[in-house]
Amino acid sequence: MAEPLTPAPLIVLSGVRREYPAGDGTIAALAGVDLVIPAGEMVAIVGPSGSGKSTLMNILGCLDRPTAGSYRIAGSETAALGMDELAALRRERFGFVFQRYHLLSELTALGNVEMPATYAGLSLADRKARAGALLGRLGMADRLGHRPGQLSGGQQQRVSIARALVNGADVVFADEPTGALDRASGEEVLKILDELNAEGTTVVIVTHDMAVAGRAERIVELSDGVIVADRRVRDRHAARPRPAATAAAPVASPWRVAADRFREALRMALLAMNAHRLRTVLTMLGIVIGIASVVCVVALGEGSRRKVLSNISSLGTNTLEIFPGKDFGDVRSAKVKTLVVADARALAEQPWVAGVTPTVSTNSTLRYGALEVSAQINGVGEQYFIVKGTKLAEGRIFDGDGVRRMAQDVVIDENTRKALFATVAGGAVGQTLLIGKVPFRVIGVTQAQQGGFGSSANPSVYLPYTTVQARLLGTYSLRSITVRVNDDTDTSLAEQAVIQLLTQRHAAKDVFILNTDDIRRTITSTAAVLTLLVAAIAVISLIVGGIGVMNIMLVSVSERVAEIGVRMAVGARRSDILQQFLIEAVLVCLIGGLIGIAAALGFGAAFAAFGSSFSLVYSGTSIAAAVLCSTLIGVLFGFLPARNASLLDPVAALARD
Ligand code: ADP
Ligand code: MG
Repeated sequence: MAEPLTPAPLIVLSGVRREYPAGDGTIAALAGVDLVIPAGEMVAIVGPSGSGKSTLMNILGCLDRPTAGSYRIAGSETAALGMDELAALRRERFGFVFQRYHLLSELTALGNVEMPATYAGLSLADRKARAGALLGRLGMADRLGHRPGQLSGGQQQRVSIARALVNGADVVFADEPTGALDRASGEEVLKILDELNAEGTTVVIVTHDMAVAGRAERIVELSDGVIVADRRVRDRHAARPRPAATAAAPVASPWRVAADRFREALRMALLAMNAHRLRTVLTMLGIVIGIASVVCVVALGEGSRRKVLSNISSLGTNTLEIFPGKDFGDVRSAKVKTLVVADARALAEQPWVAGVTPTVSTNSTLRYGALEVSAQINGVGEQYFIVKGTKLAEGRIFDGDGVRRMAQDVVIDENTRKALFATVAGGAVGQTLLIGKVPFRVIGVTQAQQGGFGSSANPSVYLPYTTVQARLLGTYSLRSITVRVNDDTDTSLAEQAVIQLLTQRHAAKDVFILNTDDIRRTITSTAAVLTLLVAAIAVISLIVGGIGVMNIMLVSVSERVAEIGVRMAVGARRSDILQQFLIEAVLVCLIGGLIGIAAALGFGAAFAAFGSSFSLVYSGTSIAAAVLCSTLIGVLFGFLPARNASLLDPVAALARD
């Protein structure tokens, strides 16, 4: 039927079938269609409702694929093309005009027209200029900033025509373009299509209205999925060159294109979040709580660790405490009798030792008048108070002479003073108390210890160790020897030297050393484990928050199927759709994370304001980790919904309205 002078065919369908599953079998919406459309033609496809017009149109527009048969466009077989190549065809060569316009309600007229150009990689300025010019040409110059809801049906259809043309389409598919319009608006739309055809654009228009079909030069009639008539009703327009404005513009650099597509996806994500504010806020809440608790827990852990460590430092650094036995908890250590005063004297002669004090200890009852209290009795050397850094509140301490004489002098602590001497008018110093049955003179009172590690409410008193050994214990072995190392000596070297010396003296290694560094290390690692534990619980809440994000994103995708269909129809790649939804998920999480961090910092400020003994210590690392973590949650839990969106079938998505 092709006349010898017609141009090379643009569209060639042969034996195209499209079957849909129905019940047990299938029904054929198209049952073997052969159709050739040369470039530049204006073809109307008519037929009763259900005859397969839309199905044919979707196949022509590469929104759908035939079940059988071949569809060649400009010589290349579409069955051989991948999803992204089909998307490129739709983006660069095709334009769609739908009966129901299918504009995105959150975008302005200009934004809707611009969208396909974004996917085509045009620069922002080019896009705006071109979209504005097209809308102007269609008489919409004063409506660029209006949203679809603010436009009449005819105006919306003109926006959708501009959108179809913005990438310089050479084929326009219009499915019942006037179906929803009044006569006058419909007439205008047809006039525009007519003009486009006059400029050389191929126009395929589906209609059930013969008056509309009469505008075309050729009418193809469908019935029950087959072509029943194909007739030429009018002569071709004299071919006119297409204006330069609709030719493809130079494409920007790949980086700019990627950045542009990212910005478009970001803008859409923000619009979508704004459109469902309550939902977005509730979804974010899970992330906010999760991130805030993780950051707070870590800061609390760090704050308490520092507090404890500063307490340890106040106990005096570079002191070594030497105990008999192999280790803490050695059950035989009480039986080891080799640690004696002579060891302390030998240690005191070492050049790296600043001070040595032997200690023995026992428990006994203190009596003063009618008052009784049980206390820890520490027998110590005269250097004890220097070595330990203990300070006196009043009175004095015993000296070396007192130790040699086994003086019956006692230095009491604040707890003992409170227990026994609280009501004594002249203070504790100078009073006599009984330890067991032995009388002692109080010569000094130590300062109350600042709370924290090692402090307790138990009364504790200090006597010369010689006195304790001779009068209270009757044994000469020591509980421990405390050594203060010179400031310029390394503690661990000193430790080795002590072990060496005592092993030599005892002919066996029967002592162990505890230094404040060890304690510090133990506490640090304990605190780390505890922090980890609580942080793990907080992480669980983060995961729950992430699942909330995934849930909402799945809802969002299923709500926006029609939008996804439109985007695919104008040429969005799967990656564009994936990116858009992924960005939305990441954005929800990231904003939630930032709010969570702010909440945690606010909590810390409140904590400090209420005068707690220690403060929350925020580390840059934990905050950076929180930001990273919320981003990851977005990617992780946003991926599935985003992938679902990108795998949608364009026709199926468009059909859902
Ligand atoms: P028209 O546009 O001419 O009114 P369609 O192309 O929409 O007709 O439909 C042709 C036939 O294919 C109809 O019988 C319709 O019920 C069937 N059909 C269309 N789309 C589907 C689908 N997604 N699933 C099953 N049947 C379908
Ligand atoms: Mg239809």
